Amino acid sequence: MNNRFSCDKMLYDIVKWLRILGYDTEYKRYIKRDKSRIFITSNTQLKDVFLLEHDTLPNRLLKINKAFNIVQYTKLFSKCSICNEDLIIADEDDMKYLNKYIRDSFPEFKKCSKCGRIYWKGSHYKKMMKFLKDLFPDLLDF
Ligand SMILES: [Zn+2]
Repeated sequence: MNNRFSCDKMLYDIVKWLRILGYDTEYKRYIKRDKSRIFITSNTQLKDVFLLEHDTLPNRLLKINKAFNIVQYTKLFSKCSICNEDLIIADEDDMKYLNKYIRDSFPEFKKCSKCGRIYWKGSHYKKMMKFLKDLFPDLLDF
């Protein structure tokens, strides 16, 4: 299953986590409805949407997972959480501005093909994995 999502402007935190889980997720102030995407909103006035009531972030992610099995089909850390682009393997040139300690401490770096942001499995990654594993114990290590 390769679901794609759109989220309304209230759901920035959800957008970020869906992208971290590897899902193509749009976030726009005025969403032009795209039938190929599941539209997630907390607006009870809209029809043909996945309604996400106000709740904690973990509870909302659990609800999305129950409906769409996002954890089973995850491609963790394959998308930029900022701009929704695919991540590619970073090369030496991409990493020249990174601290040497960081460059020497991690075997692999990825880069957003759009904004150029560099990603690696440092402490931020470990915190995100802990959050996800606490929420979804079945999530496989990546
Ligand atoms: Zn990016």
